[in-house]
Amino acid sequence: NLDIRVNIPSEDEIGSLGKAINDLALETNRYRSNRREFFANISHELRTPISYMKGYAHVLKQGLYRTEEERLQYLNIIESETERMVRLINDLFDLSKMEEGKIDLQMSTVDLTEVLESALFKVKMEFDNKGLTFKTQIDENVPYIEADGIRLEQIFTNLLGNAVRYTENGSVSVKVWSADNKVHVNIEDTGIGIPEKDLPLVFERFYRVEKSRSRELGGTGLGLSIVKNLVELQNGTISVSSQVGKGTRFRLSFPVAE
Ligand code: ADP
Repeated sequence: NLDIRVNIPSEDEIGSLGKAINDLALETNRYRSNRREFFANISHELRTPISYMKGYAHVLKQGLYRTEEERLQYLNIIESETERMVRLINDLFDLSKMEEGKIDLQMSTVDLTEVLESALFKVKMEFDNKGLTFKTQIDENVPYIEADGIRLEQIFTNLLGNAVRYTENGSVSVKVWSADNKVHVNIEDTGIGIPEKDLPLVFERFYRVEKSRSRELGGTGLGLSIVKNLVELQNGTISVSSQVGKGTRFRLSFPVAE
């Protein structure tokens, strides 16, 4: 840690300089410890799938299985862990580009409704497989917004994917309307919900309310932090409200295009 606390009790410029130095030291230490934690998280997240892959590859190589079914089960685990690792690496790559401001957004005037419908089409199968009801209430003639169509769709598929992932029964509803020179979107589910104390943290990298459940469902813990970054890069805002056992609602707003 950077240990350069200075103590200048005066109220003049030197005093403010002292305060500025202390703030800077505090900020630097926070940054360092975040970075350390970030890398510790990455190595942990990568190590887990690798150890599964290694373990089951070994079992298969040694012929340590009794039935054909068991053999396929082990191969399935290797496959799904490989997929998770690919997803994790792609997510990390996206995040690092975004945080360095190196992501190229192809901004144009887009019809949010159209993009949302394309995202809905992509996740529809997951809804059907889980027997969830799906409701939409999309206003007609919603104004266009300034956005990158592909990145906008990524936001929606991510949020809808989460809604399905964390909902056992009931419905997922999507609402789009415009007001106050903005286009608003609600994505609401009747799922497990998020405890109040976790709500402010869900947009942080690697934060998961229940690690094991997220992992079982193929999550990386990076989805929402990517979503938040992408929303803000497109001049939008995102917020979440939730009640445990009742469901979760994400609200997004984007300024109407000039
Ligand atoms: P993950 O890959 O774990 O889903 P995310 O960044 O997408 O990571 O989400 C972070 C955490 O927020 C999840 O692990 C989950 O605990 C919680 N979460 C996200 N979306 C929902 C939702 N619709 N309902 C309940 N919990 C959610």
